[in-house]
Amino acid sequence: MEWVFDLRSAIVYGAVVTLLVGGLLLLSWRSLPRGVRPALRWWLASLGLHALGAALLATRGLAPPWLGVVLANSILGLALACMAIALRAFYGMPQRRLAHLGLALLIAAAALWFIEGRPDVHARILSLAFLLSLPMASAARAVFRRGGPKGEVARFTGIAFAFGAAVLLTRMASEWLWPAGNFVLLAPTAMNIACVGTLLALPALATVGFLLMCTEHSQAELERSARLDYLTGIFNRRAIEELASAAISSARRHSTPLAILLLDVDHFKRVNDDHGHEAGDQALVEAVRRMRAVLRAEDLVGRQGGEEFVVVMPDVGLASAHAAAERLRRAFAGDAMRICAGACDIEAFVTVSIGVAALRPGDAFWSQLLRRADRAMYAAKAAGRNKVVVDLDGA
Ligand code: GH3
Ligand code: MG
Ligand code: MG
Repeated sequence: MEWVFDLRSAIVYGAVVTLLVGGLLLLSWRSLPRGVRPALRWWLASLGLHALGAALLATRGLAPPWLGVVLANSILGLALACMAIALRAFYGMPQRRLAHLGLALLIAAAALWFIEGRPDVHARILSLAFLLSLPMASAARAVFRRGGPKGEVARFTGIAFAFGAAVLLTRMASEWLWPAGNFVLLAPTAMNIACVGTLLALPALATVGFLLMCTEHSQAELERSARLDYLTGIFNRRAIEELASAAISSARRHSTPLAILLLDVDHFKRVNDDHGHEAGDQALVEAVRRMRAVLRAEDLVGRQGGEEFVVVMPDVGLASAHAAAERLRRAFAGDAMRICAGACDIEAFVTVSIGVAALRPGDAFWSQLLRRADRAMYAAKAAGRNKVVVDLDGA
């Protein structure tokens, strides 16, 4: 028995699978982070359009060419453009919506011109294969742009689009070299099967890649937020302990200095008592803002707990750390905080006590260094607060 490949049935099957994949993506909508939803919206639109475009493609030979050629190709182009837009949104790249969506109009114009204006199958195939390859190339470029893909899944998705563009460009080259003459899209030639097959397989394949990219993104977000303090956005105690331990190891390996500051807000209970807990929270946020303004970008700032903060300063010796602590102290003592909690008229005068300690040869653990900074900080409290005390054991 001869095996006959029925392209029309394959296209209808592809359209149904694309719709089902779209439904699956819609079901996962709630479980995906809000940050990726704009991209997801474009992707969903793309799958709907893709299914419609494929269904129209299947009417080839049964319905007038403006349906099976003009509209089908324009809608498929639009669907591919939506995928490129979605990937650009996913990566936070500047959008070129007009250029992408305008492509669909260009496809419609080219198809219409070479059917009605100046009928020319050869030119139609050349122009449509080229124009349809553009959004695929744009999608691949969004993934492989400067900086490269973030993992295997992104690479897989990018390669799927690049492959799609390559198939269509091959179609164009083969038409250029060996014009088909009498062209029938649904005839099961190797080139037709390759082109239609790529157009049909791409949505499902790329959606799997895109969905996995969203999940990876969500996982990374969760891991990131598990390391941050929910109120101030700086590292939490666990994260700063990890980072400080790594910085200590690095300082040991490279024989570079390292110092830490332990900062406690003075009489913070009064801020809460006088202005309420919400104002207290905002005072802590403002305290972090002031610290960040004084410190270097490479200093690691963490919240030890309550109103106590720690600063890990790589490549900094005791004298420079002392100077930085003094700058910090002055940044608080210099002027009152203006806090917005309900109304924006709260003024809180807040000072800090800071303990400074530097890494010394005997320190094996973060806890040893921290203990000495803690001792110095309590000495600053005992000396009347709004003070900096240096742990001289480490000098
Ligand atoms: P000292 O100068 O001795 O450090 O006095 P203090 O009042 O700052 O110290 P104490 O440890 O007695 O009180 C710390 C207060 O910080 C108690 C607690 O209610 C408040 N606090 C801790 N965490 C938070 C927070 O996340 N938000 C607010 N608003 N207050 C907090
Ligand atoms: Mg305190
Ligand atoms: Mg405290």
